[in-house]
Amino acid sequence: MSESPQSAALFDRALAVTPGGVNSPVRAFRAVGGTPRFMVDGRGPLITDADGRDYVDLVSSWGPMILGHAHPEVVAAVRAAATHGLSFGTPTVGEVELAEEIVRRIGPVEQVRLVNSGTEATMSAIRLARGVTGRHRVVKFAGCYHGHVDALLAAAGSGVVTLGLPDTPGVTGAQTAETIVLPYNDLEAVGACFAEFGADIACLITEAAAGNMGAVPPDPGFNAGLRELTAAHGALLIMDEVMTGFRVSATGWYGLDPVDADLFTFGKVMSGGLPAAAFGGRIDVMSRLAPSGPVYQAGTLSGNPVAVAAGLATLRLADAAVYERLDANARRVGELAGAALTQAGVVHQVQYAGNLVSVFFSADPVRDFDGARAAQTYRYKPFFHAMLDAGVYLPPSPYEAWFVNAAMDEPAFERIVSALPTAAKAAASALPDRRRSGRPERPSGSMAR
Ligand code: PLP
Repeated sequence: MSESPQSAALFDRALAVTPGGVNSPVRAFRAVGGTPRFMVDGRGPLITDADGRDYVDLVSSWGPMILGHAHPEVVAAVRAAATHGLSFGTPTVGEVELAEEIVRRIGPVEQVRLVNSGTEATMSAIRLARGVTGRHRVVKFAGCYHGHVDALLAAAGSGVVTLGLPDTPGVTGAQTAETIVLPYNDLEAVGACFAEFGADIACLITEAAAGNMGAVPPDPGFNAGLRELTAAHGALLIMDEVMTGFRVSATGWYGLDPVDADLFTFGKVMSGGLPAAAFGGRIDVMSRLAPSGPVYQAGTLSGNPVAVAAGLATLRLADAAVYERLDANARRVGELAGAALTQAGVVHQVQYAGNLVSVFFSADPVRDFDGARAAQTYRYKPFFHAMLDAGVYLPPSPYEAWFVNAAMDEPAFERIVSALPTAAKAAASALPDRRRSGRPERPSGSMAR
C-alpha cells in the first residue's frame, strides 16, 4: 500500500472529533484496511486527494456524479443560485421546476415532495403508506438498503417469512417488529408472506434493482410480480430508485422495467451531488400528505434552492448521449475487469443492473443476499488496494456497486487497463481471512455511506 501522509494526518484529526473519523461508515475503509483518502478536488473523471494523488473515480459520490466532477455548467448553475440566496424557507421557482421535471419523466409519479436525503424519502414514503392504508406492517428484502430508517434496519429471522429483528443497537424490537424481511428475487416467499399477513401489510419497499449488495438485478418479471401481489392485497408498492433513478436511464429503472408503483423514492442524481431527494406517486396517495392531507411530513431545508439548481442542471445536461456513454463505460469497465480476472484464474461474476457494475468473487451468479455473502470477499481487499495504488478509486467495500460517470475518457480507461493485471493477480493470491466472517459491515447487507 502506498503512503498517504496528508490523508493519514487528517484521519488522525478526524478520529479525535468524529466517530470512526468519518461521517458515514463505509468511508472509513474498515472493509479493506488502510488510510481513507481525503479528497480535495474533483474534475471530470478524476478525484485528487490531500497528498496530491489523483484517481479515476469509480464511486462517483455513490451515484450522483453521472456527468463527472465539477461539470462547468452544473457549477455555474450552483453559483448563480447561491448569489440569489442560500435558503428562504419559502416556496421557490426552482423546486417547482425540479418537481415538474420528475413528474414529466416518470409516468406514475403525478406529484413529488422534496426532502434532503434518500433516508428521508423512504422514511416519509413508508409513513405515508401506513397513513393511507391504515395498516402497520412493512415488507422489505434482505440485502436491499433504503437508508438508515429505524424500521428498515431489520434483519431476517430464521424462517422464510419471519418478523424483522433489529440489525443494530439503538433500534428496538418494537421498531422492527412490524417489518418483514424476505429473500430478494423470491416471489414465492412474497406470495407466502402476503397469504399470511396480507391484511396488515401497508407497503412493500424494494430497490428497483438491488445495488446495495452489489449489482443484483431483479429477475425478469420480479418487480411486476410484486406489483400484482401488492395490488391484490391492497398494499402499496414503493419502488426505491434513490440509486437507480436518473442514472440507469433518463427515467431510471422505470425506463428499463416499467412497473407502475404507487410511490417512488429518488435521490443522488436528482440533486447533482448536493443534499436533496424526493418521493412521489399518484395524486390520490400524495394528496394525503400535509398540508393537503393528514399525514405529517416537513423539512426546514427541503427544496433548497442551491441543491435544486444542481439537480435541475444535472438532469437537463444528461441527454441521450450521456446515458449511452454511461452504459458503454459500465460495460467496458466490467469487461476489462472480467478479462483481467479470467486471465489471473480468479473465479468471478461481473454483474450489471443497468449501468451499475459489480464484480463478485463467486462461481455462480448472485441473485440475493445469501449469494452475495457466499462470495469470496477476502479477495477484494488486495484487489482494491492494487487498484488504489495504481490510481483507480473503487468502492472501499466488496458489497458495493461500481458507479461509472460520463466524463471517463481514454486516459481514464488506459489507467484502468494498466492497473487491472496486478490487481487481478493480487486477488488470485489472496487467502481467506479467518477473522472475517464474510459478513458485510452494513446492517441488512450494506453500509450506510
Ligand atoms: N435507498 C437506496 C436504494 C440507497 O442506495 C440509499 C443510499 O445509498 C438510500 C436509500 C439512502 O439515501 P441517503 O444516503 O441519501 O440517505
